[in-house]
Amino acid sequence: MASPFSPNPEIKYTKIFINNEWHDSVSGKTFPTFNPATGEKICDIAEGDKADIDLAVAAAKQAFKKGSTWRTMDASKRGRLISKLAELMERDQQYLASLESLDNGKPVRVANFADLPGAMLCFRYYAGWADKIHGKTIPVDGPYMTYTRHEPIGICGQIIPWNFPLLMASWKLAPALACGNVVVLKPAEQTPLSVLYLCQLAVEAGFPPGVINVVPGYGPTAGAAISNHPDIDKVAFTGSTEVGQIIAQAVGASNLKKISLELGGKSPNIIFDDVDVDEALQWAHLGVFFNNGQCCTAGSRVFVQDAIYDEFVAKAVAKAKTVRVGNPFDDIDQGPQIDEEQMKKILELIDSGKAEGADMKCGGSRHGDRGYFIQPTVFTDVKDDMRFAKEEIFGPVMQIFKFSTIDEVIERANNTVYGLAAAVFTKDIKRAIHVSNHIRAGTVWINCYHMTACQAPFGGYKMSGFGRELGEYGLELYSEVKTVTIALDSLEAK
Ligand code: NAD
Repeated sequence: MASPFSPNPEIKYTKIFINNEWHDSVSGKTFPTFNPATGEKICDIAEGDKADIDLAVAAAKQAFKKGSTWRTMDASKRGRLISKLAELMERDQQYLASLESLDNGKPVRVANFADLPGAMLCFRYYAGWADKIHGKTIPVDGPYMTYTRHEPIGICGQIIPWNFPLLMASWKLAPALACGNVVVLKPAEQTPLSVLYLCQLAVEAGFPPGVINVVPGYGPTAGAAISNHPDIDKVAFTGSTEVGQIIAQAVGASNLKKISLELGGKSPNIIFDDVDVDEALQWAHLGVFFNNGQCCTAGSRVFVQDAIYDEFVAKAVAKAKTVRVGNPFDDIDQGPQIDEEQMKKILELIDSGKAEGADMKCGGSRHGDRGYFIQPTVFTDVKDDMRFAKEEIFGPVMQIFKFSTIDEVIERANNTVYGLAAAVFTKDIKRAIHVSNHIRAGTVWINCYHMTACQAPFGGYKMSGFGRELGEYGLELYSEVKTVTIALDSLEAK
């Protein structure tokens, strides 16, 4: 049967999206976006910077003005627009999956069964919330009536990474729009294509001009213009901890806009000796190698209890050797890393692990000489203080550690600056819950991995960020709470 996906999808939108229209950048500059499977340029994209962010913010401001179409729209209608956007994505799902795969390098099969459904579900989930966001009536002392309103924050600046371009856009846009905000979003410079296409779907869905604005460009220019902008009321960021710190400083030094950060991780995956080793291994493998190893929640530190360590290692290595690496449009498991810089960074960390004495059981090199592929790699005998055991690798590299006792493994698992996710595998539910309670991470999976759902909150402890996206909790990131008190005057006393 012919594949429903195209390795050469037509590229329709390459400009800056402001006020429901396509614009060249003010500077006239463009930047290239590349196919990571070949290293070849796909096309040029309008390069936004501060001047374009200013225009986008002005459009958003207009869309958020008192009396505007968006501000006067019934909440249920807002929900219907968001649902419609999901419907249009579904109509164009195979095209969008192809575009995502071309620009990002993830297997097109994965884009189609994970990224697209995940993004559509997120829009649908928050579409349902649009007319269910409300405050409380609060019994205060005296002849007064007090109630709260949950109001939109205003102009939300959103900066997203390249590893799940559409999915991350949905995590940002869906709750912001459901709460009635307007948005200026900057996609990652490596992966602007799918988000730009989404903009045209938003026009088709019927979003008023200025509600969604998307400015592609680089971080230190367009991204920094968002975090420094005095008229932006909130910034939401997903990306590296390093850039999260830069953004937090900019926010502190500008207008103290609200901020939420989803940052890096070095998540522990703890496997006790009572498990079905084959089953635990399937999850642990997914935990590391899913999305070409480019997941912030990657379970890169695999702690295996001593009694099953050798068996687990043998099976992990055998499994890694079965991974088919290649062109994302072929029947493969692992595509390229996003760009040459990431590929080199990963290879350098692999070299540091070898130099520090970890035992590399397979992989470790570039795969082929075209594009940015890396062989699936497994290290054993990894020690906690090795540099590559502490830094986020963000690539297809499994690191296996040996442990003996429950207290030891909890302490070692928590011995990191990050706290995004963790997993524990055991048949003993009491032990699982004990470990889960003592792990300092925003998500803990028990006997599974990467089971993130738009209905449940997601975010980090420690240097993995703050704020919780998704679920009902995610609404808090996009709402202000206003307290209104009404004097009921002396009539109450009579
Ligand atoms: P990155 O931090 O370099 O870039 C992310 C985004 O920030 C991009 O859009 C980039 O243009 C922008 N940016 C860069 N410098 C900026 C600046 N000075 N001001 C404002 N914006 C700026 O990260 P990346 O390389 O794109 O992604 C990989 C990293 O992101 C990994 O560390 C990974 O763990 C993390 N990540 C975290 C999550 C999460 O949910 N916690 C999700 C995906 C990725």
